[in-house]
Amino acid sequence: MAAHWFELWRIVGLALLALVLGWMVGAPLVCLLIAAAAYIAWSLFNLRRLLRYLRGGEATELPAASGWWGEAFDELYRQQRRNRRRRQRARELINRFRESTDAMPDGTVVTDDEGVIQWWNQTAASLFGLHAPRDTGQRISNLVRHPRFVSYMDRGEFSRPVVFPAPVDSSRSLSVTVVPYGNQQRLLMIRDITRELRLEGMRRDFVANISHELRTPLTVIAGFVETLRTAEDECAARWGRTLELMQQQSDRMTSLVEDLLTLARLEHSEAPAEAIVPVPDLLEALHREAGALSGGRGHRIALESDPNLYLRGAARELDSAFKNLITNAVHYTPAGGEISIRWWGDAEGAHFAVKDSGIGIAAQHIPRLTERFYRVEAGRSRESGGTGLGLAIVKHVLMRHGGRLEIQSRPREGSLFVCHFPPERVLSREHGLVS
Ligand code: ADP
Repeated sequence: MAAHWFELWRIVGLALLALVLGWMVGAPLVCLLIAAAAYIAWSLFNLRRLLRYLRGGEATELPAASGWWGEAFDELYRQQRRNRRRRQRARELINRFRESTDAMPDGTVVTDDEGVIQWWNQTAASLFGLHAPRDTGQRISNLVRHPRFVSYMDRGEFSRPVVFPAPVDSSRSLSVTVVPYGNQQRLLMIRDITRELRLEGMRRDFVANISHELRTPLTVIAGFVETLRTAEDECAARWGRTLELMQQQSDRMTSLVEDLLTLARLEHSEAPAEAIVPVPDLLEALHREAGALSGGRGHRIALESDPNLYLRGAARELDSAFKNLITNAVHYTPAGGEISIRWWGDAEGAHFAVKDSGIGIAAQHIPRLTERFYRVEAGRSRESGGTGLGLAIVKHVLMRHGGRLEIQSRPREGSLFVCHFPPERVLSREHGLVS
């Protein structure tokens, strides 16, 4: 405000001085014009100084002036200082961000929605073999060429990570997850999972080997127990109950080992055999077996099956999955209950359902049923000869056939287990796809 008044007084004073001088020499207008020209020249001089300062950058010294020009110079100086401080802070922030992302054990790459690389951290550089500045602006799928990664990026469906060998060292395995964010940006998170896969492989091999090793001694023990039990001598009469219990336990262990081996087989082999599986015939046999399993408990077991509907896959695996579901229905349905088995097809594929009027399952257990050894009631499961692995086997078999398991259940009302298979797995005898 002071500069404002100072400048006004300067102009008024200059004009008055010019008028007085002009009046004395008898040419007030000419003097006023000369004073105005002098004021304009002084302003142009200050403007030139300002331009020189602005062009000269921070190295040039800020010119000193009074009045409005002085105020303009001061304001400019203050703003420049503020900007300099902000720039410094932003630089420090970026440096700290760079340091922290470089220290991360996981790789990070930022791309646009076309996969054009904008930025990456140190770990990504070593895992993907990226070099700055050569690779900035390149499409990521032109640099990382593994077919699995390229089709994952092209598909644009990022709900699950993709796993493939590292481009710089094929003995290492990478897992890449893409997270879309902000304005059409993508964040690629890269993890080296070589160690995890190796440990997982070791765990699988260990379970498979130990199950395999247990199988032979178990068969021998079961054989001897059976011989002793059926021998018509004093020993059998005396130890009858004990031998019976021994047989039950060795049967349980045999089922456990068999289920563990089945799971290990499912995990080991890549894809199921692509045979034509006559599901209706398979279900006929399982229906008869279910009747035998029910024994004297009088379950009413109904089978409704489309005789023309076949599947492409592994017969042994499908038989094992369907058998597990039917066996569970018999085990967990009290005597006299109803069990219905259905096999049908529609536009969404083929479906296998087992419905029972049994004990049912409380909602909180349903999401965990396919975990290994997860049982709602361990005691009841053991009593019925269950291993706790049946539904894990079902889940694996379905995954390998591109299918999924649906479970609906209410305590004391019964359960419904449905296996859904995709249309590409379905073959129909009616349409001549199967001889
Ligand atoms: P298990 O060998 O113990 O039957 P599963 O993996 O086949 O193991 O099943 C896991 C658990 O799910 C069972 O222990 C049981 O508690 C529950 N379950 C499975 N099927 C049924 C069913 N039809 N009705 C009620 N509970 C069931």
